[in-house]
Amino acid sequence: MQNEPDKKSGPLFAQVAVKMPVDKAYTYLVPPELHAILKPGMMVRVPFGRKEVEGYCVGLAETSSAENVKAIREILDEQVLVDGNMLKLTRWIADYYFASWGAALDCVVPGGVKRGSMGRRVEFASLAVDKAKAEELIALYREKSPARARILEALLASGKETPVPRLKSEADCSASPVKTLAKDGFVHIEKKHVVAQPFANLHAPRRPHLEMTPHQTEVFTKITRHIDAKKYGAAMLNGVTGSGKTEIYLQAIDRVLKQGRQAIVLVPEISLTPQTVMRFRERFDEIAVLHGMMNDSQRREQWMNLKEGKASIVIGARSAIFAPVPNLGLVIVDEEHESSFKQPRSPRYNARDVALMRASIENAYVILGSATPSLETYFNASVGKYTRLDLPQRVGGLPMPEVEVVDMRVESRETKKSPMISRRLRELIEATLGRGEQALLFLNRRGFSTHIDCPACGMVLKCKRCDVSLTFHKKRNRTVCHYCNADYEAPQSCPACGGKLRYFGVGTEKVDAEIEKMFPEARLLRMDSDTMTGRNSHEDAFKMVASGEADILLGTQMIAKGLHFPRVTLVGIILADTPLFIPDFRSAERAFQLISQVAGRTGRSERGGRVVVQTLRPEHFSIRCAAQHDYEAFAREELQMRRQLGYPPFSRLARFVVEGTQTGNVREKCDRIASALKDAARDMKLRVVGPAPAPIAVIGNKTRYHILAMAPTSGDVKKMLAEIRPHLSNAKGAHVIVDVDPVNML
Ligand code: ADP
Ligand code: ZN
Repeated sequence: MQNEPDKKSGPLFAQVAVKMPVDKAYTYLVPPELHAILKPGMMVRVPFGRKEVEGYCVGLAETSSAENVKAIREILDEQVLVDGNMLKLTRWIADYYFASWGAALDCVVPGGVKRGSMGRRVEFASLAVDKAKAEELIALYREKSPARARILEALLASGKETPVPRLKSEADCSASPVKTLAKDGFVHIEKKHVVAQPFANLHAPRRPHLEMTPHQTEVFTKITRHIDAKKYGAAMLNGVTGSGKTEIYLQAIDRVLKQGRQAIVLVPEISLTPQTVMRFRERFDEIAVLHGMMNDSQRREQWMNLKEGKASIVIGARSAIFAPVPNLGLVIVDEEHESSFKQPRSPRYNARDVALMRASIENAYVILGSATPSLETYFNASVGKYTRLDLPQRVGGLPMPEVEVVDMRVESRETKKSPMISRRLRELIEATLGRGEQALLFLNRRGFSTHIDCPACGMVLKCKRCDVSLTFHKKRNRTVCHYCNADYEAPQSCPACGGKLRYFGVGTEKVDAEIEKMFPEARLLRMDSDTMTGRNSHEDAFKMVASGEADILLGTQMIAKGLHFPRVTLVGIILADTPLFIPDFRSAERAFQLISQVAGRTGRSERGGRVVVQTLRPEHFSIRCAAQHDYEAFAREELQMRRQLGYPPFSRLARFVVEGTQTGNVREKCDRIASALKDAARDMKLRVVGPAPAPIAVIGNKTRYHILAMAPTSGDVKKMLAEIRPHLSNAKGAHVIVDVDPVNML
């Protein structure tokens, strides 16, 4: 279908994947004047129903059996935005994740590249009058239109052209006074492109590769054998924190670059820090970085560099898997178990699994690296689908840190209080500070109290829009919904009965206050999304820890990953059980991963390291195994449970969420999907759980119900979805979400 047709011959038809929720591409006639130009992979505009919509040309043909074929209106960009391989990959994404092909294509091509736009254009304003005239106008407007006066003042002060968004914030005004000034000819406005290079100021001195340890050499030899074969393959690299995985990545990349091929490195968004990028910059030129904080023009710049072969290594979060490198040799998925590789909106792809598919289409190799591989990956490696590679020890003979488990139930019994910091942890913090070393304290919850209720009448303070308990933020004196971010005045007494409210559940803000009280001399730095609001606050905070300006670092997930500070010799996990409270079949896995990751932040130098895990369930196998650094034991036990319950990796999951403002509509739709699933289950092996209210039953005023369906293989999931497809479109007042291989069960 994609071979070049003879330009002189008769009609030409194009298959177009439109950005609409439809499951197939449509046929359109190509007008003669576009014959010579249109190629698969270009964006076009086509009539669709009564509208015109954008879409991607995905194929050309000289004949068509379709009737009433309409013609393409225009080509939006004469650039081929997606190549044949990418067309195949997006088709697979659309099929597998139950999304439209157009939507899958749309997430491959970043904003700013689409429509041949030169990226984001920003309006710049400058004075169109001289200084004297401007001053005269300012005096004139002072009373009548203070906003206009402030704008002119700001422009006068800056003395050069100023981006309109900045001008608006400096003059504290809306766009309209700026427009009025432009209309009156006092201000000149021009649209310009702005391109700034992310991480551009990171200049790293070049460093040679390290000489590998025997363990690394063994692993690397196996990897190079595969890389040199230039065929698809995948490996699970299971290496404890600090075992030298990154060094393996770097040298494997070097190998594919020397073959004239390119590499993609996927990291979770949260660990895409300057520290990470720096390690790659020290070894290679020509690195492109793609991440969520970039604007359109920055993304476009990086994208074009890759397409034109100016960069051969991409480091990025999830969407970097779509980087347009022409000759892919290697994909590294670091921390492959991370749930942030899954896109939370349609198409709900998992970048790790897309990586495997892309590599198989393009004959590339994939390394899935983690200290705590997902059970899915571990299982695939143990049945031989992936090569299994292990780095069981830290580099340089450093031991794993010793982990002490503190039973907080015993602690409250013996102290007759419910302390946040156990006596043992306090003692160790003291000793650490005494030696001039640093402590890192981890808690997965922000705020002060995470639960507020009234013991008299039983009222629980919840978000008005979501079925979620509000968290008290003491400094701001507000209660906040951590789901939708709505915040409310903190009530003085129970809104229902006027009784005295009870605050419990510990967040970082409360631990912060407690530590201040316990260690008034210590310099405490808190890192959570309440304190890290500035553009550079992460970097600044890490610098403070590195330079020793902070003694105690307290934080949420933000501090769980990738940090490497030799002087951190104590890690305290304030409450290790938090993931276990969440109703999700992966909660044990998450708890194990979290403890292992956080524990891995210490003991990274000869100074050694110690970890204190505070818990209410010391007997839980996640906590036991994590304390012993025993991934294998954990995986074995967890797999056994998954097998008994029929959860992944022993089945494939699809989750259906129905949401809407009227519970009646939502339930009706959900029941219909459930009965269609039960019908389908007659000819195939399916297990259907639900419908039931979702664990978070209301979000943003919308009632939510869900159904889980388990099928033996991904092929079965596909067949099941095809069978019930007619029931999966949105109905009145009921929005349907289909999530294949879900990672979020709330
Ligand atoms: P991981 O990615 O598994 O956490 P890293 O690659 O970050 O491990 O390695 C941990 C530390 O050991 C780093 O400081 C790194 O520079 C160092 N390192 C890794 N490999 C070697 C080696 N072969 N020789 C000396 N030091 C090494
Ligand atoms: Zn809310």
